[in-house]
Amino acid sequence: MQQKLTEFQLIETFFKPLTKGEKASQNLADDAAELSLKENEKLVISKDLAVQDVHFLMRDGGFKIASKLLRSNLSDIASCGAKPLHYMLGFSKNSEAFTKDFTAGLQSVQDEFDITLIGGDTVASKHAFFSVTIFGCAQKDKTLSRTNAKNGDLIFVSGSIGDAYLGLQISNNALSFPFNAEDEAFLLNRHFFPSPRVQLGLELVKQNLSQCAIDVSDGLIADLRHICQSSQLNATLHQSHIPFSSSAQKILAHKPSLLPDLISGGDDYELLFTVDEKNYDTIMALSAALKLDLTCIGTMSKPIQNECGVTLLDNNHNNIELTKYGYEH
Ligand code: ADP
Ligand code: MG
Repeated sequence: MQQKLTEFQLIETFFKPLTKGEKASQNLADDAAELSLKENEKLVISKDLAVQDVHFLMRDGGFKIASKLLRSNLSDIASCGAKPLHYMLGFSKNSEAFTKDFTAGLQSVQDEFDITLIGGDTVASKHAFFSVTIFGCAQKDKTLSRTNAKNGDLIFVSGSIGDAYLGLQISNNALSFPFNAEDEAFLLNRHFFPSPRVQLGLELVKQNLSQCAIDVSDGLIADLRHICQSSQLNATLHQSHIPFSSSAQKILAHKPSLLPDLISGGDDYELLFTVDEKNYDTIMALSAALKLDLTCIGTMSKPIQNECGVTLLDNNHNNIELTKYGYEH
């Protein structure tokens, strides 16, 4: 591995431009970053760690690795209904070419979400790993949390489910039937470049439409179970309501047996949130305003025999046995 730049040069060349001169970063020339908040604001913080061969492959390249790491971290901020501001980067040293691609990936996400780098740490390591700690702000008195679902709430999910799972399978050459180049590009894109639903999270809070949300990172079923367990409720899901992209639908038509994988595969980074029935029309209006599908897929209900979990129903209202829920860490 080529490692020509000193740590100082690395920071000056690649990381400093990502601060955009933002005061909080202290130009990466001090021991720590400093963040100020307005009086009625609170800080919302999340960290993600990505390890070579667990979360990414080196063959993916720096651009995709950095993009996915920062995008998935932004999704955590989105699920809290917070506005992302800044992030810190844990970086294991790599070649100059890789570092250039990695920082270009960070830059592209920064540009899309208007965030900046304010610090980090750099180490040499045999195995590549990267981490991002992201900072966002929210109004002190507003909360979007997985603990807040209410009995009778409708369950909504944004976008479509299962694309990232299919994209990963395509990337690993693990799907054995032909699909067209457009679908392939779409699904790969959904895997490598998830779309954190920041705007949606902010609007849900601003318009008081929801108090309960989670982002779908482990899998639709697994993350809904997290809501159930945290809120001490049951969830009933209608399989036929779960939104799939047209690309995923084509693949499902070929191979319906893939369905359990799509709803438990994870890495969707869509928002799963619950809403009082009376807000249904406003959610539909929000969907139109954001040009983002928001689909009602089920309802929250009292726990069944004290069991808080997910009941999945087919078109005839029969229970579908769930054999797997999602990704286990
Ligand atoms: P220390 O020895 O005190 O840990 P460093 O030499 O690691 O300080 O870091 C010097 C400055 O460079 C600090 O402001 C730190 O936040 C910044 N920095 C180091 N690595 C990174 C990185 N990977 N991304 C962003 N900033 C970094
Ligand atoms: Mg350091």
